[in-house]
Amino acid sequence: MTMWHIDNQCPQCGADTSLEETQRLFTCPFCRVKLYITVDDFFRYFLTPSACSVEDAVFIPYWRLKGMLFTYDGAAVRAKLIDVSHNATKLDFMPSSLGLRSQTLRLRFVSPETKGTFLEPARSHSEIISMQEEFTDEQSPPPLPEAAFIGESVSMIYSPVFTRNRVARDGILGEEIATLQEGTEKALTESGGEATGTMHFIPSLCPDCGWDMDGDPESVALTCGNCGSVWAASSNEFEKVPCYFLPGGDDGLWYLPFWKMAAEVGGIRLVSRADAVRFFNLPKAVRNEWEEIPFPWLAPAFKIHPELYMRVAERMTFISSMPDLKNDLPGKSFIYPITLPLKDAFETLRMILARSAASRRDMTSLFPSVSFTLKTAGLVYWPFHLSGTELIRPDRQLSIQVNALKWGKKI
Ligand SMILES: [Zn+2]
Ligand SMILES: [Zn+2]
Repeated sequence: MTMWHIDNQCPQCGADTSLEETQRLFTCPFCRVKLYITVDDFFRYFLTPSACSVEDAVFIPYWRLKGMLFTYDGAAVRAKLIDVSHNATKLDFMPSSLGLRSQTLRLRFVSPETKGTFLEPARSHSEIISMQEEFTDEQSPPPLPEAAFIGESVSMIYSPVFTRNRVARDGILGEEIATLQEGTEKALTESGGEATGTMHFIPSLCPDCGWDMDGDPESVALTCGNCGSVWAASSNEFEKVPCYFLPGGDDGLWYLPFWKMAAEVGGIRLVSRADAVRFFNLPKAVRNEWEEIPFPWLAPAFKIHPELYMRVAERMTFISSMPDLKNDLPGKSFIYPITLPLKDAFETLRMILARSAASRRDMTSLFPSVSFTLKTAGLVYWPFHLSGTELIRPDRQLSIQVNALKWGKKI
């Protein structure tokens, strides 16, 4: 996966600092202020022009998509990583992607104060996603119009151009890109608007007790070591997340976070544990009391390779019913950061359903009408034992490489 860097001034002391693309929690190396960065919709960056002034630049939008892509074609669920940029306009004289350019150049955040002309995107990011879905295998059936793109990773990168005498030039190298048709130059410089996009820098203090909260740079929710609460960032504030853990017994465990979700599934009876055993044909005999036990989904609240993500979610959800949980953060042990938001985990449920259904044929016809409504959600920390380079959870038949977690943070 590619990783881009963003230059940014510390909002408190003004020092020049640098962030990684997946970074949300910013700690200033100079004044030590710790801030959580959010946006209303998606992050917007621009490449700084060097062949023209910012005022003269016309910024061409490119969608940047990086994350997990799940597709279901009626036969199988496929999972892959995507890592692309694509021209968001219909100006075909511009390169279709940014290629490797932005890895070598630095990005900056766009703010309403950024000068220059900003073109509006003419394609939605879902249009770009559907281009990524095309199956390379000629034999496979045409895909159902069904894909889930996960990873909190839609952003926009603006690349500068400028025009002189009907020639469009690259705003960074000054090279000629195209001779423009009459009218196009005018359209280019006059159709654009001003920069938009509002960013928020929220102090990472616990809204309940004022304690400095913990998290990794990539965290999408922070934990309070003082009052034991967990807070997920919404657009410009923190929202409290109900939090539980499965007591593990001894110290030195790794607690991995999972989103526990109860969902209403339209078109399928999937309310109780007994319903789940029947629908997924789990190798268990239904006991009477299971008709009354609710069926929750458990999907990782951390990023990992999408194939592994589905396998872990399946094992956590289906292998056995939910044990008794304690209402708190686990103390003393290592708590793994939350790097995947609830809404993304929730979107994978359709794909987990399709992959795990007992009858593939029924699923193919049912799938287009299946709808998921989230009823309740919370975070559950599950203890794993570290054995060599693996995290083990025998009761869920799971082992996860520590390296797979480390690697997943950069998705
Ligand atoms: Zn600072
Ligand atoms: Zn607190």
